[in-house]
Amino acid sequence: MSDDDSTTQSRSFRYDGEVRPGEKRQFRYEVGETYLGDPVEIPVTIINGDDPGPRVCLTAAIHGDELNGVKVLQEVADRYTPSEIHGTLVLLHVVNVPAYQAQQRYIPIYDQDLNRSFPGKERSNTAERMAHRVYSRFVSQCDLGLDFHTSTRNRTTMYHVRADVENPETRRLAEAFGANVILSGEGEESSLRAVASRNGTPTVTVEMGKAHRFQSGLVDKALEGVESVLAAYDVFDGVVAEPSWRKVMGPDEEKRWLRAETGGLVEMQWGPSPLVHEGETICTITDHFKHDEHVIEAPFTGLIVGVLENPVALPGHPLCHLVRISSETRAEIERQITSGEFDGYRSHGQRWMADDEEAE
Ligand SMILES: [Zn+2]
Repeated sequence: MSDDDSTTQSRSFRYDGEVRPGEKRQFRYEVGETYLGDPVEIPVTIINGDDPGPRVCLTAAIHGDELNGVKVLQEVADRYTPSEIHGTLVLLHVVNVPAYQAQQRYIPIYDQDLNRSFPGKERSNTAERMAHRVYSRFVSQCDLGLDFHTSTRNRTTMYHVRADVENPETRRLAEAFGANVILSGEGEESSLRAVASRNGTPTVTVEMGKAHRFQSGLVDKALEGVESVLAAYDVFDGVVAEPSWRKVMGPDEEKRWLRAETGGLVEMQWGPSPLVHEGETICTITDHFKHDEHVIEAPFTGLIVGVLENPVALPGHPLCHLVRISSETRAEIERQITSGEFDGYRSHGQRWMADDEEAE
């Protein structure tokens, strides 16, 4: 926690405006202008509790086509009231508005990556100016951060958290979120997570599913994760999640993106479980005449945490992200798959489904 008084007395949250203790405010905040000179404004919710406590920042759609987190924040904004929380929730519903409007990952102007532009600068390129407004007014004033992402388009990812587990504060936050899988790393230089964590706002990334969709099973899990964090930090009197297995992938542990070596048509063969054994076929790549078939096998026994969905590949295209797991973790995952409780979603063929999605 950044200030001593945060534990003893309620504080106003000040950006350019002020949200007083006991107040919930929803507004739009200008971070730039369009070519027409109209304001580019991000939707913001600030819920300042009656009682003091940590300030928690939630951000979504820093990549404009990653929508699951947008739904998570809409629900969080609706769910909590100042009288129930100790501290402040700062929700930036859509950080990258230009990309969101275009439904693409990057800012449409020169394809700048907003998530490589933090903490930003007041007088620099478009992305850095936007990042600066967001970071200086909101993120840097918070004690904790949850940044919601999905896989990039044409891929999907298992629900997991990314955090620097070497840093005890970010590790605590990652574990409080309650996901089964934590991928450790400092994060890309100039990403929101790396910059905020380095500068006193421990922040983790939540990766969930695919771009361009609301996946309700994953959204529900993330809402439980948010509540678990709020409970663990005494912001809200809720349930702290206790996952029955947890895999923390440290920097030295084996994880690998398997890539295509040839161009062609990709057919995923793994499944229904994302557990694959060494030597098992993950996918094949064939030419259009079916003369040549390349078989991609699992180089080690592990869990598939990310996978290509688009069924065509070029040499170098990532096909699947595989992480090695221990035999104990494997046994627990196998038990959960058998009992139907595996991680809140099922795997069908090459894609993960939320419980309410139909197999095709
Ligand atoms: Zn992203």
